[in-house]
Amino acid sequence: MLGLYLHIPFCSSICNYCNFNRGLYDEALKTRYVEALRREIASAADPASAEATAGPPEPCAKADTIFFGGGTPSLLEPNEVASIIQSVRDRFDLDPGAEITLETNPETVDRAKLERFRAAGVNRISFGVQSFVDAELTRLGRIHSADRARAAIRDARAAGFDNVSLDLMMWLPGQSVATWLGNVDALVDAAPDHASLYLLELYPNAPLKEEMARAGWSLAPDDDAAEMYVRAMEILERAGLAQYEISNVARPGMASRHNLKYWTDGEWLGFGCGAHSTRDGVRWKNVSGTEDYISRVTSGLDPGTDRRVLSANDRLEEALFTGLRLSEGIDIEAAGARYGRDVWVHYGKALEPFLQEGWLVHDRPRLRLTRAGMLMANEVMAIFV
Ligand code: SF4
Repeated sequence: MLGLYLHIPFCSSICNYCNFNRGLYDEALKTRYVEALRREIASAADPASAEATAGPPEPCAKADTIFFGGGTPSLLEPNEVASIIQSVRDRFDLDPGAEITLETNPETVDRAKLERFRAAGVNRISFGVQSFVDAELTRLGRIHSADRARAAIRDARAAGFDNVSLDLMMWLPGQSVATWLGNVDALVDAAPDHASLYLLELYPNAPLKEEMARAGWSLAPDDDAAEMYVRAMEILERAGLAQYEISNVARPGMASRHNLKYWTDGEWLGFGCGAHSTRDGVRWKNVSGTEDYISRVTSGLDPGTDRRVLSANDRLEEALFTGLRLSEGIDIEAAGARYGRDVWVHYGKALEPFLQEGWLVHDRPRLRLTRAGMLMANEVMAIFV
């Protein structure tokens, strides 16, 4: 089954560390964008076929997840979300139990709006909380407070959402191990079904870098960052949120079905500006600019670019690279059989030092990272890229 990613590139304000494909909210632009998005979905053909852009669409493919990501998808009106979901239903064979996620910023919703999102068909809310400390939120340029985030989580429960995920950012400027662990405790108190913990990554010209220099905020030493990660995972595990991926924890049965497609060699189609797709061994991405995207779609042109056919070796390496992100690791015998290469024969020698170090475990047929190995994941995965 396919996963469908829908990109919504609008934000109420721009955070000082953000490097995503987004821009400031503009109502008229948003209205035109939603129309273009619906049009792109309606005309989605089988992209792996050479005739992808010609003739009537191919018969519907089956899909079982929709993920509204951004940007800030919760800036859309619930009726717009409903109309986009309807476009998906009209074009795809959407599983009746499909997971439909809406990334939501706490300041954009109240209980009534969340109820209308629920009625529109959204059944999973992913809140960008980032921190439960107001000073940290201000430093990041976020415009909500910790109390607003807590209220939004309560509102989501009251609106009937039984699948709520929270994003937290770790290793923030000026953050100590103690303040981070306070954040983790606050997350546990908020009782989500799922949580994602991300390390702050500062791209070269991020405004936050300058503000850090001006204000004298520094990042905790690497060893502290490692302690933050390991202790957070232990606390969350004790609270019933088991780690299933390097950055993700969930209650039993509540792992993100959409994101699992990225880590289990699945297939997905992305709609909207800058969205990526991978299907039948072909990868492509849509043009990034919002206006460029709208004008291509409305003039009947394919917004997809950079189409690349992946070789069997590309696909195997990517399956290994992403599969190792999972706590259960990857069945390397099955992956090797799928792509016609014996993984152990090919990579065993390079992997051996990591096994000796205790970063990797080879539990035939699975290969997985230990928690210590997850801290060194980039070094281990470099073998496959
Ligand atoms: S809300 Fe998210 S996408 Fe928008 S600017 Fe902030 S970090 Fe970037």
